[in-house]
Amino acid sequence: MALDKNHVVTLKYVLHTNDEAGEKIFVEETSAEQPMTFLYGVGMMIPKFEQEIQNLNIGETASFTIEPSEGYGERDPQAVTQLPLDMFQGQELPPVGAVLPLSDNQGNNFQALVVEVTPEAVIVDLNHPMAGRPLHFDVEILNSRPATEEELAHGHAHGEDGHSGH
Ligand SMILES: [Zn+2]
Repeated sequence: MALDKNHVVTLKYVLHTNDEAGEKIFVEETSAEQPMTFLYGVGMMIPKFEQEIQNLNIGETASFTIEPSEGYGERDPQAVTQLPLDMFQGQELPPVGAVLPLSDNQGNNFQALVVEVTPEAVIVDLNHPMAGRPLHFDVEILNSRPATEEELAHGHAHGEDGHSGH
């Protein structure tokens, strides 16, 4: 039986992307011990990702690429901004490569990657780390089961067996 709406899917994946030179580089993976479990078809995942895996059965694998336009979007060069050093008073300045959790005055949370530290400011990139990058997925479906009433009511999965807490 293929994957469907109102199913809870457990899978493992390996994600690669390309660096600026076009070389394939490793990003992240889940293990069989700690796979990813999610409620299919409710918008938790990139829509294209769900589309690509929808015809898979338990135990089957697939490899596919999601282009930025269907993944995390293109990089926005405007989304690089300067944080005044006042923001870091009494703290050490973050090193280049650090990821700062920030929130705006609407209460939205986002992550800022430190790209440069100057005598005047910390310069951060607010783009999603995978913006502008192709996503090369290798996926294996470990389990798929109908969602419980409770999971459907909550709109998310309660673990691989449906009984895990939040
Ligand atoms: Zn819940």
